[in-house]
Amino acid sequence: MNKMDYNESIKKINKQKILTTIDALKRNNMDARYFESKEELLNAVKEMVPEGSTTALGGSYTIKQIDGLTELIKSYDFKDRKKEGSTKEEKRQIAMEANFVDYYFMSSNAITVKGELYNVDGTGNRVSALIYGPDNVVVIASPNKIVSDVDAAIDRVKEQTAPMNCERLNMDTPCRKLGRCANCRSMDKICIFYTLTGFQRNKDRIKVFFVNDDSLGL
Ligand code: SF4
Repeated sequence: MNKMDYNESIKKINKQKILTTIDALKRNNMDARYFESKEELLNAVKEMVPEGSTTALGGSYTIKQIDGLTELIKSYDFKDRKKEGSTKEEKRQIAMEANFVDYYFMSSNAITVKGELYNVDGTGNRVSALIYGPDNVVVIASPNKIVSDVDAAIDRVKEQTAPMNCERLNMDTPCRKLGRCANCRSMDKICIFYTLTGFQRNKDRIKVFFVNDDSLGL
């Protein structure tokens, strides 16, 4: 098998994996959609979010990797909790306002094939918005995020996502040196709030947009 066939096979299998997960998310009353490319996803977001909407962003490496998506989210009435020059109190206020936006964008640390979102937060603002507040929560994900069950989701975060995020954010935590979780009590610890999101009563409030690109996401 040459490299092109190999890449095509991966893309095909990833598509099946995504479609299976989309079915499960829909059974859990989440809107879930498949996009072949980053460009298709960008156009869908443009079409979905009306002008004048309020938006906010929960820290996401996946979103950063999609050219133009952060800029698009910020082109609306964006609640910027990291605004330069803001005081600590002003930043806290803006983070609170993010709970009332029309569209909140984030990724998910892992997504099970049973249609559950697993997320671990250090501050809690991201999982707080996911759980309650914004009218719409848009989760941007790649096939890398899909795992078989909650145990696999926990392992994924402990062995990969959290150590990589600690490295990326320059946190003083043992996982950076060990390459895996040491269940630390560091003041830089980013694993404080552990959340599992399953069946929703508020249908389609949470939207999971998958891009079939395995170069995305930690
Ligand atoms: S609990 Fe501590 S050591 Fe474990 S992944 Fe989180 S930050 Fe790293």
